[in-house]
Amino acid sequence: MNERYRVEVTKDSLVFSAGHFITFAGGIIERLHGHNWRVKVEVEGPIDENFYVFDFIALRDDTKAIVDRLDHRLLLPTKSKLIHVAIDGTQAVARYEDRFWSIPADECILLPVENTTAELIARWIGGELIHIWTSKGIAIPEVLRVFVEENFGQWASWEGKQ
Ligand SMILES: [Zn+2]
Repeated sequence: MNERYRVEVTKDSLVFSAGHFITFAGGIIERLHGHNWRVKVEVEGPIDENFYVFDFIALRDDTKAIVDRLDHRLLLPTKSKLIHVAIDGTQAVARYEDRFWSIPADECILLPVENTTAELIARWIGGELIHIWTSKGIAIPEVLRVFVEENFGQWASWEGKQ
């Protein structure tokens, strides 16, 4: 029998309130707005000598640490072809054609994504988890999935496989 195991973590604490604006349809830009984003993480693979796939507490705490970095921030993309973000002294300045947004830099987080969609935020969170686990010497699970809810019932997900 080919068995697989999966653990998932979603907690009331895995929520962040953050602003963003995305571009779509090749050049339309949303107005600045915010969401209460919710995050769920799943890990899949064989069970280890302790009979678990992954330590629930580590999964929860490492995800929470990443989520906290996004909380009460404006999410700005640094790889967008349309929105250009630069740090100017203590300000972060995002420009799109003749519009610009100047925000104290410590109220923003610059994300290396093309657009601050739920899909790419999920991918970024997944990458940060792998980075944390690599630095702690924790084995990377066979399958990692990150789900991000932007609005009630509207989830996007990213999956990384070893
Ligand atoms: Zn939005």
